[in-house]
Amino acid sequence: MGDAVIIVGAGQAGLTVAEALRADGWQDEIVIYGAEKHAPYHRPPLSKGYLLGDTPAAQLTIRGPDLFDKKRIEFCAGRPVRAIDPTSLRIELDDGSRRAYCSLVLATGSRPRELAVEGARLDRVVSLRTLEDSATIGTQLQKAENVVVIGGGFIGLEVAAAARKKGCSVIVLEAMDRLLARVASPAISDFFARLHSDHGARIIFNAKVSRLVGEAGVVRTVETADGQSFPADLVVVGVGAVANDELARHAGLACDRGVVVDDCSRSSDPSIFAAGDCTARRLADGALSRLESVQNAVEQAKSAAAALTGRERPFRAAPWFWSDQHGVKLQMAGSSANADQAALRGSLADKNFSLFYLRSGKLIGVDTINRPGDHMLARKLLDHGLSPTIEEVSDEHFDLKSLLATGVPA
Ligand SMILES: Cc1cc2nc3c(=O)[nH]c(=O)nc-3n(C[C@H](O)[C@H](O)[C@H](O)COP(=O)(O)OP(=O)(O)OC[C@H]3O[C@@H](n4cnc5c(N)ncnc54)[C@H](O)[C@@H]3O)c2cc1C
Repeated sequence: MGDAVIIVGAGQAGLTVAEALRADGWQDEIVIYGAEKHAPYHRPPLSKGYLLGDTPAAQLTIRGPDLFDKKRIEFCAGRPVRAIDPTSLRIELDDGSRRAYCSLVLATGSRPRELAVEGARLDRVVSLRTLEDSATIGTQLQKAENVVVIGGGFIGLEVAAAARKKGCSVIVLEAMDRLLARVASPAISDFFARLHSDHGARIIFNAKVSRLVGEAGVVRTVETADGQSFPADLVVVGVGAVANDELARHAGLACDRGVVVDDCSRSSDPSIFAAGDCTARRLADGALSRLESVQNAVEQAKSAAAALTGRERPFRAAPWFWSDQHGVKLQMAGSSANADQAALRGSLADKNFSLFYLRSGKLIGVDTINRPGDHMLARKLLDHGLSPTIEEVSDEHFDLKSLLATGVPA
């Protein structure tokens, strides 16, 4: 057995595990293998500032180049791990070489779900995960007239907003009857449908894409099952992501649409941990969920590092997320799913409001639009199990911060 912690995947989660291990006092070797040729970088700007040309590539890198030397972290870029042998505690690299670990952390992220229709591999049909994908889409947006976005989720909508800003004609084809259906309340879905329509995008609901048709290998039209056809010189597919959990599955680890981990990021193998988009974990409501967010990657990574250094740091904080579209900042904390009451603070017309969601009188989620103060407060309320009443939320004069001072759990 080696004395190295080996981390597979050099994204947000992989880097955070390494840094947290050093911060927690780990003295032995730390090795990160990353399939990409880049140092770990921020993905959120890929559909926001970087895509729009507002954020330079240099600002995407999560830490400066001297971090690895300073923290004695061996970083191997462009080195995909191709197998794990949990019996001999070794990994196998792309060139067949092997390396021993004492503990392994899987931080392999996720990849875009493929569109399973004819024509999905034509030229100018793209999805967005990597720096290269974003650079390609950015270049193509300069030339494209008609952009079709398949999928009205966060990535699709952020790209739609960028495409409108670049002057393209934009159609969003959404298979469900509302945008963001998997993650947001109907009120938030409606707000974003109006926002995108007001900025000139055409949104078509219940649109089941049946095939993509090309000429000389390049996409020209998108067809839907109801016989409609939409001209396109760029198609962006944003129909969700799947976990990169193949290494874990082949090694016999418990997986269920992601590597199954507990609150301390332990997998079903005592020597293997996992963090970030590649994992599935039981949340407070008991459901096994795969979260794709920076918060989830960072917190699971810190929990893994703590467990590796012999401490318990369970990740139980309420999930949070953000999205930027057309100058509007959405921040979500907790979840609105299963709410039986909702109350509004602020003004939809002014694009400045918060929606508080309760179930059986207990606060379970808060979505805010351009109200970062409410978002931070909501996270504290959720993490402390504190609930305002629906009347208190609805009354703008009621100071929700006062609930923190009392600290009385609801
Ligand atoms: C366009 C876009 C916009 C986003 N916007 C937001 C946002 O606004 N807010 C938010 O909270 N989250 C956002 N996210 C999600 C967030 O970026 C992810 O949840 C986060 O990056 C997950 O980090 P990770 O380390 O788990 O995975 P990743 O960042 O994907 O890193 C995993 C790395 O592992 C590598 N890898 C995979 N297999 C192997 C292997 N066998 N060997 C070696 N390396 C391997 C991959 O190449 C990759 O580099 C966005 C994501 C995208 C793509």
